Amino acid sequence: MANWQKLEKKYMMDTFQRLPVTIVKGQGVRAWDDEGNEYLDFIGGLAVNVLGHSHPVVVKAVAKQARTIIQTSNLVYSVPQVKLAKLMIENSCMDKVFFCNSGAEACEGAVKLARRYGMIHRKGAWEVITATKSFHGRTLAMTAATGQSKFQDPYEPLPEGFVNVTYDNIAAVKAATSDKTCAVMMEPIQGEGGVNVPADDYLKKVSAWCDKKGILLILDEIQTGIGRTGTMFAYQQYGVEPDIMTLAKGLGGGVAIGAFMAKDKVSVFEHGEHGSTFGGNPLACAAGYATLNYMLKNGVVDNCRSVGAYLAKSINGLKKKSDLVVSVRGRGLLLAMELSREIAADFVLECMKEGVLLNAVTTSAVRFMPPLITTEEDVDEAMAIVKKVLARVGKK
Ligand SMILES: *Cc1c(COP(=O)(O)O)cnc(C)c1O
Repeated sequence: MANWQKLEKKYMMDTFQRLPVTIVKGQGVRAWDDEGNEYLDFIGGLAVNVLGHSHPVVVKAVAKQARTIIQTSNLVYSVPQVKLAKLMIENSCMDKVFFCNSGAEACEGAVKLARRYGMIHRKGAWEVITATKSFHGRTLAMTAATGQSKFQDPYEPLPEGFVNVTYDNIAAVKAATSDKTCAVMMEPIQGEGGVNVPADDYLKKVSAWCDKKGILLILDEIQTGIGRTGTMFAYQQYGVEPDIMTLAKGLGGGVAIGAFMAKDKVSVFEHGEHGSTFGGNPLACAAGYATLNYMLKNGVVDNCRSVGAYLAKSINGLKKKSDLVVSVRGRGLLLAMELSREIAADFVLECMKEGVLLNAVTTSAVRFMPPLITTEEDVDEAMAIVKKVLARVGKK
C-alpha cells in the first residue's frame, strides 16, 4: 500500500497539522482508513457533513446532476441555482442570495456588499467591526477581519477597514463605532475561536445598536448555520435578524459551496459589481438542494437539537468521573469539552487510536461536531471511547 502520509510531505505544502490517519471511505457517521480501521467521525468534515458521509440522497442528486450538466457559466440562467435559492429564501429571514464556493469567499462578498451599501447609503462608510477570537476565512481581507493575531501576524501589512473588538462586549462595539462604520460582522457562536457562546442578550444588543446607528449586522453563520446549533440558523435562537448572512460548510452536504444572503434593502449590487466563475455551479447547487430539502422534510434539525442535548449531558456527566473535564459549552451539535490541562491535541490523538475522530479546537478544548443525523447510540459508542481515554490520560 502506498505511504500516502509520506507522499503528502513530498508533494504538498505542509500547512495542515493533520492527524496521522488517511481516511479513504465514509458512510453516515462512520469513516474508514486505508488499513480498514473504522472510526466514528465526530469531526464531520469540520461541521460540513450535516447528513454524514455520502448520504444516499446527496449521492443520487450529485450523480444525476453530473450526468445532466456539471458546469455552465453565470452568463446564462441555471435551474439548480434558482431551486436552491428559493428553498434558502423561503426558510430564512433573507430576501436574496449570491452563490460562491467557500466560507472565506462568502464573507468577502458580504463585506463588499456592506461597503457598497455604505458608499450609497452612509456617506462612504466602509469600516467593518469584527470580534476578537473570530474566524472569517483565510483570504487577505478576511485575515484582517479575523481577530486572532496568529492568523494576522505572518501577513502584515493587512488590508485596511477592519476593527477587531472584544467579543461578547457591547460597550466595545459601541466604542468602535464611528461615521466610517458600515457594518458589524460576527459569528452567533464562535466556532474556530473555541466554541464561544456569548451572553443570551449580546446579539440582541448588537442588533439594536446597529439599527440605531443605521449600520448593517452581518452574521457569519458558516459554521452555525444549516441546523448545526439546533435551529436552521443560530440567529433564530437569539431573537435577531441579520441584514446579511454568510453560509458555506453544511450547505452542500459535503460538496463545496458558499453563499451570502441579504435583505432586499441591502441587496445593492448592480450588474458586474460582483461575480464568480464556479459560484452556484449546477453540481454544488444540486447537492445543496438535496441536502436542505432532506433536512427540512426529515426533522434533521430536531434530531440535532435532541442528540446535541444528549451529548452535552453525557460530556457534563464526565465532570464527576474525571478532574480533567472542566465544562462543556456550545449548542446543538457544536460542542466543546474544556479540559483542565493543555493536552487537547494528545487527547484527540488517543481518541483517534481508539476509533473516534475529534478536533482540538484550542490547546485545552476538544470540539465535537458530528453529523446532524447522529443517534444517541452513536453518542454512547463515541463517549465510551472518550471515557476510556480520559481514564488513561487522566492518570498521567
Ligand atoms: C470555516 C469558517 C469560515 C471559512 O470557510 P472556508 O470555507 O474555509 O473559507 C468562515 N467563517 C466561519 C465562521 C467558519 O467557521
